Amino acid sequence: MSCCTDGAAMAALPLKLHFVLVPLLAQGHVIPMMDMARLIAGRGRGARVTVVLTPVHAARNRAVLEHAGRAGLAVDFAELEFPGPALGLPEGCESHDMIRDYTHFRLFCDAMSLLAEPLEAYLRALPRRPDCIVADSCSPYPADVARRLGVPRLVFHGPSAFFLLAVHNLAKNGVYDRVADDFEPFEVPDFPVRAVLNRATSPGFFQSPGLERHRRDILDAEATADGLVLNTCAAFEGAFVQRYAEALGLKVWAIGPLCLLDSDAETTAVRGNPAAVDASLVASWLDARPPQSVLYVSFGSVAHLFPTQVAELAAGLEASNRPFIWVAKETDGLDSGLDGRVEGRGLVIRGWAPQMAILSHPSVGGFLTHCGWNSTLESLSHGVPLLTWPQFADQFLTEMLVVDVLGAGVRTGIKVPITHVVSNPEMSKVQIGREALERAVVALMDEGAAMRVKAKELAVKATEAMAEGGSSDSDLASLVRHVAELVQQGKDAVEVHDAPDLREQEEETS
Ligand code: UDP
Repeated sequence: MSCCTDGAAMAALPLKLHFVLVPLLAQGHVIPMMDMARLIAGRGRGARVTVVLTPVHAARNRAVLEHAGRAGLAVDFAELEFPGPALGLPEGCESHDMIRDYTHFRLFCDAMSLLAEPLEAYLRALPRRPDCIVADSCSPYPADVARRLGVPRLVFHGPSAFFLLAVHNLAKNGVYDRVADDFEPFEVPDFPVRAVLNRATSPGFFQSPGLERHRRDILDAEATADGLVLNTCAAFEGAFVQRYAEALGLKVWAIGPLCLLDSDAETTAVRGNPAAVDASLVASWLDARPPQSVLYVSFGSVAHLFPTQVAELAAGLEASNRPFIWVAKETDGLDSGLDGRVEGRGLVIRGWAPQMAILSHPSVGGFLTHCGWNSTLESLSHGVPLLTWPQFADQFLTEMLVVDVLGAGVRTGIKVPITHVVSNPEMSKVQIGREALERAVVALMDEGAAMRVKAKELAVKATEAMAEGGSSDSDLASLVRHVAELVQQGKDAVEVHDAPDLREQEEETS
């Protein structure tokens, strides 16, 4: 990797910059921040990067850190004890994917806020103040710490710009408050494309009762940031990035897809967590399948299917008669005879899958996904079209971006988020039955040629964006330069402040 950060401010800086990255404690947020750490350390003129984690996350990502060290990158961890047990969370419950009782989510957010004090103590004890803190938007507690220490601060957004701009415009124009119920349709105002949604499918983050303070802190931390960092690229959603920057009046850098940093077998096999299966065995299994023939099925790290949905999905995959790899987090509803019946055609992975290794394999031709933003980027960056089954949060908007705007996917037909299925005892927990699933799989795998072409075009553009001189590479260079300038301005201000007041001296001598 080479460096393009050659501004005057960079040249004037005697020291290499030190970035401190603070992710939200969730797989879908830690993984891209680990990528960002390696990207900045590789291209930020020898910058040093510290990622702030708790013991569970540090253990999960240790192999990636060691790999970065072997590649000569200056990345390290600051490991802070997670104060969850003091608030009543079970010992070791340090990640969003470990929360099975949703009432624990508020406690989890409260516990993350308590990390402000140990983070500040850690930073104050460093031989030199860091030059920049990059904190996840959903983890706003470092804002006050950065202010007290006088350190520039950027906010990193996990979701797409499409989602960010939509919920921003909906909230700003009071649309959420005007509708009678969660399913009344509305159009997103001032949006680059026509987007019709409802409150259920377009909630902002942290909307549930009890999270009001966190939501306020998140909005304040964003509004007062020195800039925003997005894991996307101009080719995917440039218009939305630009409009979001204008809407907030902030500098925004689109430096992704960050997943493209991981291309070698060594890191893709341990990304986010050591895989539960031998990645080389999965690769050999895929090697034996025709190009673009395999459907990969996964719902990310957080979403869980109901047992009835697991049973319908298993039956749909079996009936589709297409090769598949299914990452099944749930065993309830999974018929133990399935593995035997689909032997040679279907592979069921129970536990953490080497997702990037799978999606980058040429035999994979489709991805049945919950539309988490990382999964979406990982799929499109490798030219794999999506079969969409959104569950909650930003996922219905991501589905809309992929299917209606980018033309690189097809819907399974899910209309109701899981949050509303859970709270409505009248509603069928199945939502989509085996025949509909079978038809959707066949539609993507056999009739999805146009979508596959689109996905492949996007993959080429994503690779170009991340290559030297591409849009994301240029944005990263601009980000590093901006931080260097802020650091220089801070130094100049200190020097002016420390200089003797000349007017006072003149008065004394006259
Ligand atoms: N992931 C993985 N193996 C798994 C499940 C998930 O590597 O078995 C990774 C996936 O590649 C992605 C992240 O975990 O990088 C999930 O993030 P996403 O935004 O897609 O969904 P979330 O888990 O946040 O809902």
